[in-house]
Amino acid sequence: MKLYNLKDHNEQVSFSQAIKQGLGRQQGLFFPLELPEFSSTEIDDLLELDLVTRSSRILSAYLGDEIAPETVYQRVKAAFTFPAPVATVSDDIASLELFHGPTLAFKDFGGRFMAQMLAQVSNGEKVTILTATSGDTGAAVAHAFYGLENVRVVILYPRGKISPLQEKLFCTLGGNIYTIAIDSDFDACQALVKQAFDDEELKQAIGLNSANSINISRLLAQICYYFEAVAQLPAAARQQLVVSVPSGNFGDLTAGLLAKSLGLPIKRFIAATNANDTVPRYLSNGEWAPNPTVATLSNAMDVSQPNNWPRVEELFRRKNWALPTLGFGAVSDDVTKATMHELEALGYTSEPHAAIAYRLLRDQLQPGEFGLFLGTAHPAKFKESVEAILDKTLDLPEALAQRADLELLSHNFAPDFAQLRQFLMALPE
Ligand SMILES: *Cc1c(COP(=O)(O)O)cnc(C)c1O
Repeated sequence: MKLYNLKDHNEQVSFSQAIKQGLGRQQGLFFPLELPEFSSTEIDDLLELDLVTRSSRILSAYLGDEIAPETVYQRVKAAFTFPAPVATVSDDIASLELFHGPTLAFKDFGGRFMAQMLAQVSNGEKVTILTATSGDTGAAVAHAFYGLENVRVVILYPRGKISPLQEKLFCTLGGNIYTIAIDSDFDACQALVKQAFDDEELKQAIGLNSANSINISRLLAQICYYFEAVAQLPAAARQQLVVSVPSGNFGDLTAGLLAKSLGLPIKRFIAATNANDTVPRYLSNGEWAPNPTVATLSNAMDVSQPNNWPRVEELFRRKNWALPTLGFGAVSDDVTKATMHELEALGYTSEPHAAIAYRLLRDQLQPGEFGLFLGTAHPAKFKESVEAILDKTLDLPEALAQRADLELLSHNFAPDFAQLRQFLMALPE
């Protein structure tokens, strides 16, 4: 698989290089040179397969020239160890539940597949994963890499801006997992990571790698669950499918669009955000004007400078799709709360991220269409806010219950690159 740098199309790399490097020159994102497509018969055949077999065929369509299909199959089997069920919410709407993995959010798919792929291509070289998280990436990456030889993981997150249980999930592991609470917001954490990647000396010294959704391996993994959703839907729904994606960094939406570009029948997408509405405003008035990030109930989407957006635009350009066909909207915290009540009344307990996607889907779905929204996290992962909003008690799933009482092991830094650099250089082997 060849990929090019969106900021300099002359820089081309293999998949192995892209996964190790994360970003290209000038912090450019890598994008596939070839966009494979399945025929409609091939799609029908794929939809008959089980998750692991189907996913390994989809991924081999991209990776086949670099990694043997049997190896891809074994790696996918090791990564995708949990299901992605579609749950019925109403006559014309269902939820794709992506939160049945070890850290209860969709990021387990990408994080675990990336860990497998990095192990596949790194030949035992030392790697330091440095990543910024608005909550869920950190947990997924920490758990996916925990205990792997030759890999150290350093995770930055905005202090006090992720849920206490989210924090417990990945800041209590220790071992090869280092966590740092930064006294600022997610965008500041992301900026520190970018600064580190610009520092050639540091990069070489510690074998720097990012496990952020900028890493192409994560996006490729996420394509697979859009196929899994369609495989579970009745045939009639497959023809009129609208998918609503709760978005922060826009990795999930990029993966959905890549699934469509492979030939998966999805009529249109809705890009759903919270008050951090850079993209909805851009789609309505053509101006890219990020505001300062604001804290919301759906904290994993508190991103005002979404990293993956250039990939979305590139895909529309390459496929000759018109950007105005992309649905969009931003949902306030008040409307999010009301929507969680609405879902509860339908018998479906949800959390703020999924509720935002549902809200816009419900409002924008046309007669005859079938709607699917992504359930990106388990409601119990946001226990404090969900319980307060819905006035009910949630049971903690096993993965959370185990960690809830452990001590936090995080460091606490100002948003200061010099301090971070010193820490990274001094990490034990
Ligand atoms: C990360 C995350 C999102 C946003 O996904 P992006 O790919 O960054 O757009 C939405 N919901 C939850 C629960 C998340 O963890």
